[in-house]
Amino acid sequence: MIITVQSHADPAAVRKRLVDLGLWVKRFDDGGAVRFLVEAHSAHVTREQLLAVEGVGEVAVARSTTPLLDAHPASIRVSGVEIGADAPPVLMAGPCSAESEDGVMQLARHVAASGARFLRGGAFKPRTSPYDFQGHGRTALSWLRRAADEHGLLVVSEAMAPAEVTVVAEYADLLQIGSRNMQNSPLLRAAGASGRPVLLKRGMASTTDEWLASAEYLLLHGAPGVVLCERGIRSFDPITRFTLDLSAVAYLVHVRRLPVVVDPSHAAGRRDLIPSLSRAAMAVGAAGLMLETHERPGEALSDGPQALSPEMLAELGKELFTQPRTHAQLQVERAADSRSALS
Ligand code: PEP
Ligand code: MN
Repeated sequence: MIITVQSHADPAAVRKRLVDLGLWVKRFDDGGAVRFLVEAHSAHVTREQLLAVEGVGEVAVARSTTPLLDAHPASIRVSGVEIGADAPPVLMAGPCSAESEDGVMQLARHVAASGARFLRGGAFKPRTSPYDFQGHGRTALSWLRRAADEHGLLVVSEAMAPAEVTVVAEYADLLQIGSRNMQNSPLLRAAGASGRPVLLKRGMASTTDEWLASAEYLLLHGAPGVVLCERGIRSFDPITRFTLDLSAVAYLVHVRRLPVVVDPSHAAGRRDLIPSLSRAAMAVGAAGLMLETHERPGEALSDGPQALSPEMLAELGKELFTQPRTHAQLQVERAADSRSALS
């Protein structure tokens, strides 16, 4: 944004007020009035807030490439459950793939007991190899729905192709777009038109701006709301399956004020790192977590090494999701902690 300082105002004083709002401020003079180029780096600041600053004359805003997303609320409601900055953190958990009716039923009981609000599970599975298990499709969706209803949970599940959107939207409360399909525009258009809110996973090699542009597609085509899901990006380091980009999460939550959940399971690819990454994600401001779990991880048909046992899920759920505190409350507590650390 470009700010013009009022002719009678002291530019240094105006600059200080802008910096205090959490803005980068760069002065440039074009021979007329004093102007500042400003950019928010640690907080969302609106044009109206800038106009209210003493000494600020005009505020020019560059046209956004994501106007609908700019107006998107920080929290959205999915079948009665609120997800976002103003709501208690939300846990989504379940198997990588819904493998059998009994298995899904048993897991749903553990998932509900861990404090989760959503049962996740793949029915249509994006697999790297065509020889790997591809999912049970519509049948798996019916298992997920029945198990979720029995345990007071909601369903989140993935559609990989426009032709799958209608059936997934029929059974799921939240429609998932997977990492491999983040930029599949026919799929984004179909998902938006389904009328369901969408969980949009980040493409494993996508920038944050590309991710946001895909979210804009969904909104433009009718999605009532979007939840972004960071699931790790491909980096130069193969020590974990992907690199969990918590910087992007902090930016999206604190600067763009969007609902973001974090999936540490696909990022780490190994269950021993999931508790630490989960804590880190919540500390950064995530609205919740998506975690993979399996009754017998060693026998899972997909992603067994990253699946939490029901016991691990219960422990993590108890630690992070059973205290009904909102992010706003947590931030107040953290601010109080840092004040007492300084005094
Ligand atoms: C999943 O959540 O089931 C999945 C396949 O994840 P991703 O799209 O992030 O790889
Ligand atoms: Mn998986």
